[in-house]
Amino acid sequence: MDAIRPAYRGDAELARLLSDAGIRTSVADIRDLLAGVNAAPAGERPDRWLGLVGTDLPAALVEQLNALKATLPIPADPEFGDHAARLNALRAELHRRGLDGFVIPRGDEHQGEYVPLRAQRMAWTSGFTGSAGMVVVLKDRAAIFVDGRYTLQVRQEVSASLFEYRHLVDDFHGDWAAEHLKAGQKLGFDPWLHTVGWVERMRNALARSGAELIAVDDNPVDAVWTDQPSRPLGLVSPYAESFAGRSSADKRSDIAAELRRQGNAAAVLTQPDSIAWLLNVRGSDVPCTPLPLSFAVARDTGEVDWFVDRRKLAPGMEAHVGNQVAIRPPEELGAVLDELGAAKAKVSVDPNWAAVWVFDRLHTAGARIDREADPCLLPKACKNATEIAGTRSAHARDGAAMARFLAWIDREAPTGRLTEIDAAEKLLSFRRGGEHFRDQSFETISGAGPNGAIVHYRVSPKTNRAIEPGSLYLVDSGAQYLDGTTDITRTVAIGQPTAEMRRHFTLVLKGHIAIATVRFPKGTTGSQLDVLARHALWREGLDYDHGTGHGVGAFLSVHEGPQRIAKVPNPTALQPGMILSNEPGYYKTGAYGIRIENLILVTPVEGIPGAERPMLGFETLTFCPIDVRLVEPSLLTGEERAWLNDYHAEVRAKLLPQLDPDTAAWVEAATAPV
Ligand code: ZN
Ligand code: ZN
Repeated sequence: MDAIRPAYRGDAELARLLSDAGIRTSVADIRDLLAGVNAAPAGERPDRWLGLVGTDLPAALVEQLNALKATLPIPADPEFGDHAARLNALRAELHRRGLDGFVIPRGDEHQGEYVPLRAQRMAWTSGFTGSAGMVVVLKDRAAIFVDGRYTLQVRQEVSASLFEYRHLVDDFHGDWAAEHLKAGQKLGFDPWLHTVGWVERMRNALARSGAELIAVDDNPVDAVWTDQPSRPLGLVSPYAESFAGRSSADKRSDIAAELRRQGNAAAVLTQPDSIAWLLNVRGSDVPCTPLPLSFAVARDTGEVDWFVDRRKLAPGMEAHVGNQVAIRPPEELGAVLDELGAAKAKVSVDPNWAAVWVFDRLHTAGARIDREADPCLLPKACKNATEIAGTRSAHARDGAAMARFLAWIDREAPTGRLTEIDAAEKLLSFRRGGEHFRDQSFETISGAGPNGAIVHYRVSPKTNRAIEPGSLYLVDSGAQYLDGTTDITRTVAIGQPTAEMRRHFTLVLKGHIAIATVRFPKGTTGSQLDVLARHALWREGLDYDHGTGHGVGAFLSVHEGPQRIAKVPNPTALQPGMILSNEPGYYKTGAYGIRIENLILVTPVEGIPGAERPMLGFETLTFCPIDVRLVEPSLLTGEERAWLNDYHAEVRAKLLPQLDPDTAAWVEAATAPV
């Protein structure tokens, strides 16, 4: 269908409409704004950007703004292009600057999970789109470092004639660079894109060859990336206290008290989700996570300098953040760090996240640096009563959407005509209608048969498989609701499962139940609990190569720290209010994948007869049927069987009132006691 889209009637007409509406932005500025809008994800609400121009815009103006937007180019995906030509251009630029090489990480200034188009320099240079990686370009050779998840993908995406493939964990890229650089040669890096720990490790590695590590003022990739997208301008809106549960002023006063306790005058905040939490704002600069990219300096007085492009802010933001928060252009961050240095202030900076640029600037200015965790991390992780109530309610609605999806799969999949993409799209359509739905919390993992065994599988038209009878289908998905973030995995039998599938599924379920029901003394960390999720698998000589649980935000990032449940040591004790995932799995390469994931909340456990110590446990937040056709009851203990039946009774109580009669009947049958 050829929609009748009104044509753009020219700048003079738009200028007239803007002025008639009392908007003083020039057409040239609107064009700049649109370049930033097009560099941000459209998300589920593609008209949201109109809020950057004003509120209650007249229809004629909205029509012409949309018409102008349609005439402007959408940035190309950075990974596609002539990588040989790009490497040549980059090498010429390095030569011009007297550099013998350059390091290109995957991340941006915030070290976040989602990188805006503008900062996807690794993809632009190499073609590699994985979620972790590092590129080193030298004069006569280049290498790309990726981890075990990406050994196949890197070969498909990156030219072997341009890049050597190396292992990200086993081969430190600093050692590789040292091996190929001579004494006196210079390896450049962008100090906005690396942590202080990386620089220290890199300097040590290069010292062996006598090569130097040189911080550059501006990134040479940007200099040769001629159509580099703009910085994203996703609308930043207030986040209502009715969802956040606490005012920003209260949160800032707590952070100030913590800074005074540490003896620090200020903290530099570089993680956008910390800032979104602290100021009760949400944004739309990156996919699936409602955060605005920005920086902040929080003071021991409760005042905050917020470094953010004003053009992103919804009208009335000054009033929302109040007069203790100064909204300043991002370029002024350096000047504020200089002032802290001039005052000889002691400043908290998180070495795990902050760019080394921040350390260098503070150090040069004369500040004393205290390497401390971002002070927002722990209070953000421990959800308040309002956030917990919101999250429970979001999960109840999300469970209903999932149940409708699973009932649909159960009805349609045995025909063998559904594909992974069909299923992912249908699931999204069920969620879209839900109250407070804003977006997906990550791209759905929809894995049929052997694709379910690829832990970080993302379906694409090339890999799209039919969901076939006699197979397992794994779906890991989640949503962003105004009142909470969800993340759920279900594995379902399509047709008749084999005895082996049922045995493996039941072993995974035993691990899931062990985490769901554990009681542990205050002070216990997630890494101490991880073994419980694996114990049943280990007894059979099986395991899975991912963590058991990650922290989850409240209408924020679906992956947040500092808590997690994993084999690798993590010093953070679990505390009441923390939300984590409980997601053990088992993967049979080339055959099928199994994962059962619910979100869980750390809660105090009271009333244990004879208890001598304060104990904690988990409350399960996710309610959606677990496929009992895959359960082998004889492998479950009585307690495990009781847990499953009790869980399903709660699923019915939470979901049935929300469901149409057909889906309700399906849920009744799917949750019959085992
Ligand atoms: Zn998940
Ligand atoms: Zn998860």
